[in-house]
Amino acid sequence: MEDVIPKRYHRLKQVLNRRQPDLTVLTEDVHKPHNLSAIIRTCDAVGIFEVHSVNVKAELPTFSQVSQGSEKWIFLNTHPDTRTAISYLKNQKFRVYAAHFSSKSLDYRQIDYTKPSAIIFGAEKWGVTKEAAQLADEHIVIPMLGMVQSLNVSVAAAVILFEAQRQRLAANIYDNTRLESEIYDQVLFEWGYAEIARVCREQGISYPILGENGEIKEGFSK
Ligand code: SAM
Repeated sequence: MEDVIPKRYHRLKQVLNRRQPDLTVLTEDVHKPHNLSAIIRTCDAVGIFEVHSVNVKAELPTFSQVSQGSEKWIFLNTHPDTRTAISYLKNQKFRVYAAHFSSKSLDYRQIDYTKPSAIIFGAEKWGVTKEAAQLADEHIVIPMLGMVQSLNVSVAAAVILFEAQRQRLAANIYDNTRLESEIYDQVLFEWGYAEIARVCREQGISYPILGENGEIKEGFSK
């Protein structure tokens, strides 16, 4: 087995160094593959580490070519229902925002996304469910000044997430690695050596240690 080439290894590290464990998205019945894929691609660009999804009305999420393979770099955590997903996020100390039109909606630019933030996006037809709207801490909206009443869900996600990215860049939050070192090392190995990682998991053995340039140093006999 070839070692991962140093250039790729350092690129993987650069991406992981910017991943934001305290910024996430919950998609609620966003079932069209091209929409989910576009959201995942945006999440990758913004530096989101993990996306959450609930698919009560639809089947398990699938991806289209719109994702450009970005689903490989984002963890998708699927929850059985909205209540479970939101209580999981609240237990993780996220403030939960529903991208949702209501009488109490705030302009999305009024939110401080440098704090742990989870944003719920609703289904293409129905929007965010009543339950999600009730459980969310706040409702946020992108002002609509034209004839149509809403944006495509992936467009809405991009607008809000790039505002979050803007705020975090301004606060220098991307400058320091945010992931816990154990998770960082684990994901780095899985990204660099997907096949060996799979074998290790199947056999219940820990991942080998990597050298400075991503070469396998010890703990695994090739
Ligand atoms: N008829 C639906 C409704 O009334 O909510 C429209 C759903 S919209 C196509 C799909 C999702 O995109 C919404 O649930 C919301 O999360 C997000 N969205 C679309 N436009 C938005 C906007 N201007 N502000 C905030 N979120 C928006």
